[in-house]
Amino acid sequence: MAEPIDFFSYLQASPTPYLILAPDLTITDVNAAYEKTVKRPRHTLVGRNVFDVFPASPGDPDDNAVFLLQQSFQRVLTFRKPDVLTMHRYPIPVPVEQGLQFEERYWTALNTPLLDHHGNMVGICHHAMDMTEIHALKNTMRAARIVEQEVSQQDDSRSAAIRATVNVLDAERQLLRQLFEQTPSFTAFMRSPEHVFELVNPAFSELIGHRNVIGKMFKDAFPEFAHDDFIERLDAAYKSGEAYTTKSKRIVLNLENGAKREAFVDLVYQPITEIEGSVSGIFLQGNDVTEQKLAEDERNAALEESARLALVAQKITSAVTITDNKGIIEWVNPAFTTLTGYTAEEATGKPLVALLCGPDTSSQTVGVMENGIRSRTSFEVDVLHYQKSGQPFWQNIKADPVLDGDHSLRHFIAVQTDISEKKKSDDLIWQQANYDPLTSLPNRRLFRNRLDQEMRKAYRSGQQIGLLLIDLDRFKEANDLLGHDAGDVLLEEAARRICACVRDSDTVARLGGDEFTVIMTALDDEAHVERTAERITDALVQPYRLGSEVVYLSASTGITLYPEDATSLEALIRNADQAMYAAKNAGRNQFSYFTRSMQDRAHARIRLGGDLRSALDGGQLHVYYQPVIDLSTGRIAKAEALLRWRHPTLGPVEPSRFIPIAEELGMINQIGDWVFKEAASCSKRWSEDIGAPFQVSVNKSPIQFLSDGEAVDWLDHLRHLGLPGNSLTVEITEGLLLKASPQVTERLLHYRDAGIQVALDDFGTGYSSMSYLKKFDIDYLKIDQSFIRDMEVDRDNRAIAESIIAMAHKLGIKVIAEGIETNAQEALLRSAGCDYGQGYLFSQPLTSAEFEQLLSTRPRGSSASLH
Ligand code: C2E
Ligand code: MG
Ligand code: MG
Repeated sequence: MAEPIDFFSYLQASPTPYLILAPDLTITDVNAAYEKTVKRPRHTLVGRNVFDVFPASPGDPDDNAVFLLQQSFQRVLTFRKPDVLTMHRYPIPVPVEQGLQFEERYWTALNTPLLDHHGNMVGICHHAMDMTEIHALKNTMRAARIVEQEVSQQDDSRSAAIRATVNVLDAERQLLRQLFEQTPSFTAFMRSPEHVFELVNPAFSELIGHRNVIGKMFKDAFPEFAHDDFIERLDAAYKSGEAYTTKSKRIVLNLENGAKREAFVDLVYQPITEIEGSVSGIFLQGNDVTEQKLAEDERNAALEESARLALVAQKITSAVTITDNKGIIEWVNPAFTTLTGYTAEEATGKPLVALLCGPDTSSQTVGVMENGIRSRTSFEVDVLHYQKSGQPFWQNIKADPVLDGDHSLRHFIAVQTDISEKKKSDDLIWQQANYDPLTSLPNRRLFRNRLDQEMRKAYRSGQQIGLLLIDLDRFKEANDLLGHDAGDVLLEEAARRICACVRDSDTVARLGGDEFTVIMTALDDEAHVERTAERITDALVQPYRLGSEVVYLSASTGITLYPEDATSLEALIRNADQAMYAAKNAGRNQFSYFTRSMQDRAHARIRLGGDLRSALDGGQLHVYYQPVIDLSTGRIAKAEALLRWRHPTLGPVEPSRFIPIAEELGMINQIGDWVFKEAASCSKRWSEDIGAPFQVSVNKSPIQFLSDGEAVDWLDHLRHLGLPGNSLTVEITEGLLLKASPQVTERLLHYRDAGIQVALDDFGTGYSSMSYLKKFDIDYLKIDQSFIRDMEVDRDNRAIAESIIAMAHKLGIKVIAEGIETNAQEALLRSAGCDYGQGYLFSQPLTSAEFEQLLSTRPRGSSASLH
């Protein structure tokens, strides 16, 4: 927006005298031309009543000047229209040496009302032209005629008188000439009713482009004004003898070179009245006010524009905020207060982003806003905001930078719109499009979206997804029999039961009818899918109560895995469907895997679980012992107890296969206690054999550790055997420390008090932080096999193993390397300062008898070497 134009500076520059009056006729401003014409400096004028400054001249009984001027002002104030006084005699006091002295003056005055934008009268512009000279001229001409008459009567002195008269006239003409030549106002004399130009001044010539008009009638001199009202007005003034004044009249002049010139002029047509009263010509005087007019137009346009903008800002229903170049609020409009409840005082001085964002605004949205302000670019965001009263609402914020000429940021303008209603209906539409109205579960559409998303995620992270398709068995019959309302209740209940069987991170969806699906993400154990499927099958088969009736349903579930079974969405859904039909065909009320091998594995797992129950009593479980070698001496330092299952038909079963099953079936404590007792009795026997305490390590999985309520029993048992606590090491894994529950801490403290040592197994594969090691009083770190396996060739693994050793030693912890299979590995580890080693290089895990044999033939370490 352009700077508002200072109207008064233009007034000041005008060659025409102006006086600005307040409605109570106090002088509020004068221009330099006015000061000059009344010979009074500005400070003696401004602030005083105009009639106090210019009072009636005393001792002048005919003076009605003040009265006439008062009348004129009154008319302006009443009719709110310009008013003219022509050739108005008004003597004014001018400064002389002795003070003020009245000076005879004649004026043509134009009084114009000044109105503000609301049309209120704010003052009067008094435009005064000093006509004293012209009046004198008129008198002179009149006198000349009288002299002429007198001269004709007195022949003898005639020639002298004529000379005298001519002289007087010459002097007057001379004066008039000067006035003509010098005044910046343009002036012209026209004679006769045809308005023939007799005399024009240089300012007039300048205005009209120096064309020659002398001797020409107005209409011939200015053919371009044929359709204007010039002639009409001139005629009227000529006929009536009354002056005519017009302000800011637009004229378009034809210049010689064919160009046109637009100008705005203030004009006075002053009739020239002869002594006998008839009009003989017109005195045209005026000022070129083009510059003032254009400046005023521009100012008015700017004012109008700013008034319009102010109106918009006040009335617009969107909230508008203006900030400084740092995003600090400088101004808000009334709608802002309506929308947010914060007043302008409360909002100004606050950062825009902080004020417009709520506690739920995502950091991403905040980032978009902050970045926009920083980088001086527009931005648009939707933000959930809270009114001062706490009422939440959704707002759309559009913000744009206001840049200076040099592209530096001056302001930001933000417009906020309440979009709560739209959001609500968007949400509703989204809800309707994506959720099943009966169960409020995601529908088929949202299910497909989620599955697609999860597949992408799993692809990136390398994790597995399990997809379960659950179909209620014989639901249709129940629905037909009991009616649709009852059917709906059953479906709602089934949905609830399925949801209760899955983790929060899994998605349960209703695909339609009696078909549900579960997306299980981030699977690290396929048995987890199976357990969930089992739980769902069990949950859905429980009786449903419908008022007094009890209904029985069951479900068939198909399971498929990504990426194992399929990598496309369609194929995965098809697989789940096929697997579900397989479950139905196999007799319903069960689950089925898509792939044969999975199905076989699942069956095997189930069978294995059954077999495990009898394994312990059937004498199929054995504890093997693997020696742990002191790398500095090459002697056997101790042994790790490793569980073995010799299945009657399957042969040896890996602990990694059956221990999770034992955990799942709640058998791990029983089995674990048995391993401990076996290990403890071996420790006792071997200690006696070698005549020094011989330490045995026992593994304890997290589930075992956490569910184990009988830790004390182990201590009792050791005591009962007469063994010290340090004849036992318990091997735990890193994950356990991460949980850091009071239970874990307490148990570990308990061990420490009893002298039982703790080893951290498979170190380096989990998430242990160093600080934990110290906190939990760990005695040994067992570097995981995976770092040892190819440490001769893999530099990274070697570096990891070496730094684990160095770090552990700093913390006063001993290190055992697992899975040493080659001499090179042993040499590397020994040179890295590793304390102990375990692996096939030294010995496979052995039966207790074999181990005893080994102990008696191989050099073994003393108990001292353990510490
Ligand atoms: P772990 O505690 O890390 O045991 C070391 C595993 O590495 C044992 O496997 C052992 O046979 C194997 N091993 C030893 N030296 C070498 C070698 O040079 N090369 C290779 N490739 N492997 C070697 P195992 O006996 O199959 O046991 C597997 C896991 O089962 C154990 O890992 C342990 O976490 C768990 N486990 C074994 N027995 C028990 C038990 O009584 N209770 C519990 N809760 N878990 C047990
Ligand atoms: Mg172990
Ligand atoms: Mg291990």
